[in-house]
Amino acid sequence: MGPWEQYTSEAFQTLFREVQRFTRYVYILHVLSWDQETYMPPGATEARARQISTLASLVHQEASSPRIGELLAQAEADAQAQGWGPDSDAVGFLREFRRRYDRMTKVPVEWVQAFSKLTSEAQVAWRQARAENNFARFAPYLERIVAMRREYAQFFAPYDHIYDPLLDEFEPGMKTAEVQTVFQQLREEQVRLIQAIRERPQVPNAFLYRAFAVEKQRAFVRDLLAHIGFDFHRGRIDESAHPFTTSFSIYDVRLTIRTAETDFFRQALYSGLHEMGHGLYIQGVDPAYDETPLMGGASLGVHESQSRLWENLVGRSRAFITWLYPRLEQTFPGTLADVSPEDLYRGINRVEPSYIRIEADEVTYNLHIMLRFELEIALLEGTLRVQDLPQAWNERMQAYLGLTPPDDAHGVLQDIHWSQGAFGYFPTYALGNVMGVQIWERMTQDVPDAYEQIQAGRFQDVLGWLQAHIYRVGAKYPPKELLQRVTGQSLQPKPYLDYLWRKYRDIYGLTA
Ligand code: ZN
Repeated sequence: MGPWEQYTSEAFQTLFREVQRFTRYVYILHVLSWDQETYMPPGATEARARQISTLASLVHQEASSPRIGELLAQAEADAQAQGWGPDSDAVGFLREFRRRYDRMTKVPVEWVQAFSKLTSEAQVAWRQARAENNFARFAPYLERIVAMRREYAQFFAPYDHIYDPLLDEFEPGMKTAEVQTVFQQLREEQVRLIQAIRERPQVPNAFLYRAFAVEKQRAFVRDLLAHIGFDFHRGRIDESAHPFTTSFSIYDVRLTIRTAETDFFRQALYSGLHEMGHGLYIQGVDPAYDETPLMGGASLGVHESQSRLWENLVGRSRAFITWLYPRLEQTFPGTLADVSPEDLYRGINRVEPSYIRIEADEVTYNLHIMLRFELEIALLEGTLRVQDLPQAWNERMQAYLGLTPPDDAHGVLQDIHWSQGAFGYFPTYALGNVMGVQIWERMTQDVPDAYEQIQAGRFQDVLGWLQAHIYRVGAKYPPKELLQRVTGQSLQPKPYLDYLWRKYRDIYGLTA
């Protein structure tokens, strides 16, 4: 008997088969999007957009139909009547599909269509505005997006805060007030840490931008990921303008990186480790969850905790870089001959406030996120007007990072997210950083010599622990419950802040 057949409810079994079918459609959509970002010729842009939109609306129509709603309600009633336990897969399945079904049905189709039209126009306007460094060109679109997002929140009323329904889409169950509390603690400490680092001599890192042959970069990253445990029998790595991870099932996980001859570390190596973290998560989900809503991971924040864990807690550790150094020397002979492993470790971890979020280091990154989160809330609350946004942006940059952007292209216009209508997405990046350290610390209770193993090039205990505790259960538990089950704690900024202080006190010789 398969793991799902034990649930003897006809409604559940019918719903389950239907949801499997929708999920396959979604995988097909992922194939189309992946191809669009990697190999599709530019001339196909409009044809592909039509294909994607046709299939996406078909899936939406079928998955949000009243018949599916009736099956879902009946299956929930059967689960209750038959007393399926809170740890059963079927209860996780019903919870996660209910969440998605409500999201699809509470929002009127007319709103979805109008918003989709608005955001596709807004993206064009945003690209022009950024190229011309002219915020005024984008502002009218952003005003309408904010107005529509305020409308959207009403579909989910009542709520504690107008931002809650937006946040909930990406981080189920998380409340704006909780994020504000955590961010306030992060902000204070991280600003203080940045100031302490500023007073110390800077560590050199120019050697990171030496020429590394692109072909060798590709082979190096591929071998590294395979060595750590990414399964290339069930995955691929390709290249795209912006690195990302997608999957067409747990048997086919696609990562992308970027390569540039003089930017090996950031674009290929660390992007590769980051995307690998997302990929390991998907490859580690219980195979019984494939083609179900449980396959995607607990939330964006939890997903990001895993990409950041592999990128930073593993990849930017002294142990990892010590192990990596001779491998680099072997592949790129002489390129780093005058750089010691310790120089490399310090250079890779250099802290330097900058205008651009995606280039930010571990210490300054969260401040870029907090700034966006605070501005999103002010816009949604109506306490900040779109026309005043560039000034509000620049004031916060000055307060948090001590920098004023030279122009809006390096400031408020740098990210695509708002033009896509994505409000509530940014905070998950910082939440992931925080959760990642909590999960890492719990892991080291069971694997106390994790860093000794990493320095010896052994990753299986760390990976095995994460698979057993985080990856395997997919989206069976809501993110807060998962964190509590795994770490015994709620979301706590202290472990993350302690980690930052410990690491950077050592690198910069801070006395504070
Ligand atoms: Zn990521």
